[in-house]
Amino acid sequence: MILGSHLSIAKGYKKAGEIAVDMGANTFQFFTRNPRGGKAKALDMEDIQALRDIMEEHHFGPLLAHAPYTLNLASGKEDVRTFGKNMLRDDLDRMEQLPAYLYNFHPGSHVKDGVAVGVERIVTALNEVMNGDETTTILLETMAGKGSEVGGNFGELKSILSEVAYPEKFGICMDTCHVYDAGYDIRGNLQQVLDEFDSVLGLEKLRAIHLNDSKFGLGSHKDRHAGVGEGKLGLDFLLEILGHEPLRDVPFFLETPYDDEGHKREIALLKERME
Ligand code: FE
Ligand code: FE
Ligand code: ZN
Repeated sequence: MILGSHLSIAKGYKKAGEIAVDMGANTFQFFTRNPRGGKAKALDMEDIQALRDIMEEHHFGPLLAHAPYTLNLASGKEDVRTFGKNMLRDDLDRMEQLPAYLYNFHPGSHVKDGVAVGVERIVTALNEVMNGDETTTILLETMAGKGSEVGGNFGELKSILSEVAYPEKFGICMDTCHVYDAGYDIRGNLQQVLDEFDSVLGLEKLRAIHLNDSKFGLGSHKDRHAGVGEGKLGLDFLLEILGHEPLRDVPFFLETPYDDEGHKREIALLKERME
């Protein structure tokens, strides 16, 4: 089982690794820079080596980097897309120096131009930014379908993956809160949803899972995360997906509305119940 939570790298990568170990985690997710955008800090290679050592000593699974929320490649505004493309290129360059090879981003919002136009803009931007030499796997996150978000169903994600220049460099990060909010009844029938995922996208594309409970119900399109066992998905479901045999090599990341101490308690609870 590869399980961790989202945590801050504000105090450095080594510190983040230490916090993860203290939490009983064997991975973590981090923002590549301030989630609202802005300039990323220069990389301290000694600090990064210290994280590599921690990861090796504690047998970590893959880490997941998350792009800032301000990245919107589907925007109708050219300056927003340019800002996003520059950030993405910079992040992909930095990823080559980090002990992480999974990079997750929200496909974007088309505002009112429609999904097809949004998909087209995302594909064009990705193809402009990438050169095919990246060693990173870029993950599109499944979205709740709030507002004009692209990626609220598997077909929309597939339409992006089938048009990018380097499809082998892409995968999907499934957020349990988002897919449930989007109308996929993973709680009622996990296998059926995974079968649909497999037939549309291919299960081998599922490279990370955001393990969140959901404040609102099936198809609510709200995107409000709840703590483990404190939402409509419930503890039994979260344990079911965590223990689902075909997903045993996929890393799970908590993005529940708690701090490191809260995540530590949730990880302890999940691990205890998984035994
Ligand atoms: Fe996300
Ligand atoms: Fe998420
Ligand atoms: Zn969310």
